[in-house]
Amino acid sequence: MAQYVLAIDQGTTSTRTIIFDKTGSIVSSGQKEHEQIFPQAGWVEHDPKEIWDNTREVIGQALSKANITRHDIEAVGITNQRETAVVWDKTTGIPVYNAIVWQDTRTQPIVDRLAADGGVERFKQKVGLPLATYFSGTKIVWILENVPGARDKANNGDLLFGTTDSWVLWNLTGGVEGGVHATDVTNASRTMFMDLETLQWDDEILGIFDVPKSMLPEIRSSSEVYGVASGHSLLREVPIAGILGDQQAATFGQAAFDQGEAKNTYGTGNFIIFNTGTEIVHSKNGLLTTLGYKLGDDAPHYALEGSIAVTGSLVQWLRDNLGLIGSADEIEALAKTVDDNGGAYFVPAFSGLFAPYWRSDARGALVGLTRFVNKGHIARAALEATAFQTREVIDAVNADSGVPLTELKVDGGMIANNLLMQFQADLLGVPVIRPVVAETTALGAAYAAGLAVGFWSGLDELRANWQEDSRWTPSMDTAESDRLLRNWKKAVTKTLDWVD
Ligand code: ADP
Repeated sequence: MAQYVLAIDQGTTSTRTIIFDKTGSIVSSGQKEHEQIFPQAGWVEHDPKEIWDNTREVIGQALSKANITRHDIEAVGITNQRETAVVWDKTTGIPVYNAIVWQDTRTQPIVDRLAADGGVERFKQKVGLPLATYFSGTKIVWILENVPGARDKANNGDLLFGTTDSWVLWNLTGGVEGGVHATDVTNASRTMFMDLETLQWDDEILGIFDVPKSMLPEIRSSSEVYGVASGHSLLREVPIAGILGDQQAATFGQAAFDQGEAKNTYGTGNFIIFNTGTEIVHSKNGLLTTLGYKLGDDAPHYALEGSIAVTGSLVQWLRDNLGLIGSADEIEALAKTVDDNGGAYFVPAFSGLFAPYWRSDARGALVGLTRFVNKGHIARAALEATAFQTREVIDAVNADSGVPLTELKVDGGMIANNLLMQFQADLLGVPVIRPVVAETTALGAAYAAGLAVGFWSGLDELRANWQEDSRWTPSMDTAESDRLLRNWKKAVTKTLDWVD
């Protein structure tokens, strides 16, 4: 058996490859950012060809840095930005349009049209999701309705849809020369089209959306051999054996395999996933019901999820749109120039509010301003926004599950920020814990792939790999955290009803 497993992490801002050894430690990695394309307010696109080119490049980077070849790789796992929709022509391999990214809100009119008959929750019982621009289903509809010739081609069976896992898998396994068109249950559960119980595409919903089933990938488990990499790849003949959407992959990489375990990823957005075991739990508090993972023929694990659209991307916004900082990590020093938020609250509802509000009519607001407020306070308010939004989602998780969380495992780019992590622990009143291997997204995909080919023996071996790195313990008194939360909630009310 080869010594390593390779994970491809096709993320929102970059594509990464990480090679792991049997202990779950990182051996080497490659990374490349891709362009964020903003053609109009509310639109966000990626170039799928750039993503595939970058994927190949970062595979090469990781292999050469470790000075190894495909013979040293036992299996490949893929994890990906979820909901981002790619539609391509299967006869040429060329996308008919850019990838429409999960943050994109252009499909609001399609959402409104579909919600006119039965409201935004009309499919929620079956698919676990409200109608919202976030999910990939309405993005496919937009492409079919707006790209010249797309509808006819789709009806002829010439177009394929995929989230970026499917796009990478299809290309990696040969593309037009017999590429495998598949996805896993976790990605499929983000389309609006998959029945949570049968784990199959739902013909009735597809009919209502007018999306031909022939476009859709086959739904497979998260851990099985989907195919082998083609001759054109540096990974020739290596099995692709794991797929998990990024948030589910991070949960898996955090070894949160059991009912009642949870993690929060602090990236472009924040994503809290709470494992509900083999039970489908329907939220009464604005959370999504989604797939956690499914290992081969075993029963699927479900999860409740609270997604927050804008957290780390608010830091990017302060960097790129205001020039307040030169790089994301500078925000901590700027925030530390002041002792508190100075009364300022920043609600970054740039693309509406996700969990637990689900208000697509919300837009961002910076409130509580006085002549006293300076850029340090604004930096602090921006970081605190992440923690407040997380607190509201954890409150919803606790209400739905009836069993309050006792600790929160965290990962993602923003956890490098100590000030934020301490404030998060203060606001939640429970410890916030970071694992040694914080690249949990890639690790989770590697785990899924390695389990499928017997590289790892089972979940117990993976649990033993998980190790604590650092822990932030709450130190704020509850009266103060309650006061801050009250003000935050007041600030949120100022963001609603902005879109008419
Ligand atoms: P994704 O996987 O969603 O692309 P990452 O997990 O790589 O995101 O995290 C990147 C995000 O974290 C960016 O939005 C960036 O602004 C933010 N970020 C990175 N470092 C810091 C930091 N030290 N403090 C605050 N935010 C940070």
